[in-house]
Amino acid sequence: MNLIIMGAPGAGKGTQSEKISQKWNIPAVSTGDMLRAAVKAGTEMGVLAKSYMDAGQLVPDEVVIGIIKDYLSSDTCKGGFILDGFPRSIPQAEALDAMGVKIDAVLSIEVADEKIVERMSGRRICSGCGASYHVVYKPTKVADICDSCGKPLYIRDDDAAETVLKRLTTYHGTTEPLKDYYGAKGLLVCVEGQEKVEDTTAAVMNALSKFEA
Ligand code: AMP
Repeated sequence: MNLIIMGAPGAGKGTQSEKISQKWNIPAVSTGDMLRAAVKAGTEMGVLAKSYMDAGQLVPDEVVIGIIKDYLSSDTCKGGFILDGFPRSIPQAEALDAMGVKIDAVLSIEVADEKIVERMSGRRICSGCGASYHVVYKPTKVADICDSCGKPLYIRDDDAAETVLKRLTTYHGTTEPLKDYYGAKGLLVCVEGQEKVEDTTAAVMNALSKFEA
């Protein structure tokens, strides 16, 4: 199963990818996580990516296409994969097609913009393992400490309210047209993001059940 998950920033792509990854035992890869790792490591690509990420813009296509090409050609992906946050533009989707990668389904998690803004203000990320939490919807057992690895949580720079609005504009203008692109290929499945993570997971699993082998 080769799956793409798309949705506005904060729609719950990462959380649902994790659930699907566990259930289907296939790896999930997030270009956002890969870019944040490059930023943290201070690589040349990380320094370049940070300027775009902090401005709420997409990192140039050639950078992310290069990262994803390397990843998809590795043995890790032989039995299937979940792409979280890639492709995010029509040229990226075309590059994926040009790599000869066959996609089985594209899941779009739908959440209204007002909800996104509310959600992003409560999002917290683990500084150790990158796990994502929310102060109301997915709280940690101990405040500001990761349940998995015990490291402190932080607020992503690009979750600042002003940047979130820019990211939403980018999403609607550049990423959302992918729904038509994949819809025309008969691959698109849309699910409404719910208040509770487990309700969204139930809807996602139900929608994807028809693709299970
Ligand atoms: P995410 O963690 O998926 O919300 O991604 C965080 C940021 O990383 C985005 O706002 C973009 O600046 C950048 N990014 C992640 N994936 C991509 C992509 N496929 N193309 C371009 N930029 C990306």
